[in-house]
Amino acid sequence: MANRIFNFSAGPCTLPLPALEKAQTEFVDYQGAGMSLTEMSHRGKHYDDVHYAAIANIREVLNVPESHDVLFIQGGATLQFAMVPLNLTIDGKSAEFLNTGTWVKKAIADAEKIGPTRMIWTGEPENFTRIPGNDEYKVGEDAAYLHICGNETIGGIEYHAYPDTSAVPLVADMSSHIMSRPIDWNKLDLAFAGAQKNLGPAGLALVIINKALLEKCKDGLPAYLSYKTHAAKDSLYNTPPVFAIYMMKLTIDWVKSEGGLAEMEKRALARSGALYDTIDSSDGWYRCPVDKASRSRMNVCFRLPTEELETTFIAEALEASFSGLKGHRSVGGCRASMYNAMPLEGAEKLADFMAEFKKKNA
Ligand SMILES: *Cc1c(COP(=O)(O)O)cnc(C)c1O
Repeated sequence: MANRIFNFSAGPCTLPLPALEKAQTEFVDYQGAGMSLTEMSHRGKHYDDVHYAAIANIREVLNVPESHDVLFIQGGATLQFAMVPLNLTIDGKSAEFLNTGTWVKKAIADAEKIGPTRMIWTGEPENFTRIPGNDEYKVGEDAAYLHICGNETIGGIEYHAYPDTSAVPLVADMSSHIMSRPIDWNKLDLAFAGAQKNLGPAGLALVIINKALLEKCKDGLPAYLSYKTHAAKDSLYNTPPVFAIYMMKLTIDWVKSEGGLAEMEKRALARSGALYDTIDSSDGWYRCPVDKASRSRMNVCFRLPTEELETTFIAEALEASFSGLKGHRSVGGCRASMYNAMPLEGAEKLADFMAEFKKKNA
């Protein structure tokens, strides 16, 4: 039995043990081929089956309609910060942004190098502690698209309903909450996600794009940077990251066997609820800096009364087999990231540990 601890890392992060074990079993001799999947041609039958099964898995579990294409692109979510404006800012139109934190700021910085941008709302004066309400901004009718980050992994804030943009395409960075809740594809024209939070190992981005929007994407881009290239070749234009896609397939096999998105959502609510309840019932000893309605189900951020106590908390938690609880270096504090593969038991045990820690130190 592998010695596994509760891994609360923000990403890469804990993956389902059955997926890891299956990969381990098959790694050296893939289904009797006498070689590893990582050693064989990506044009052969073995990999072909994995590739199309991964696409089918995404379609099935995320309920992706025929109107949308499913693409696998290397370069993580970060390359999408460039690819989205490269492909979608056409005819001098502006890319618009709701600035909810670090990950939107990075997207804006890249988009500015490519075309006109407009920030139509920013949470910076409030330290990015909430998601804006629909009545707090106005999407320009002439916008090329509106970019949002569905879940700000660092600040711990999450959209619980996506904006209505009527005819303007909505683009969502779903890196840290994809596969944790149902998605309304009628509202969403382009979703992208780095794989290493809820989908599998790093290095891969999942891109799901409305085919009508794809048709309108800019022509004449370098081949790899064009969505049209990847769509025309079923994401086999060049050598795909075969191991990452294989692991994604196994990860989604696990999601399916556990009951799919409805079950993942239920578990996310239970895990995050256990920690938020502990925080809320601590008489302010633990403090969540985030607006209640915007609290993330994936990344629970919290503070202790002093930075010294935070350091002690993180060290003692690690000794008790809870790793990865340090907040992002840009904001400090503590953060418990709990993606699909984190068992409810991990969250409950951490909640108990927090209550005990308070008793000892308050
Ligand atoms: C992790 C993360 C990214 C960056 O993903 P990479 O694969 O490292 O490029 C982008 N956006 C969000 C919301 C993230 O959580």
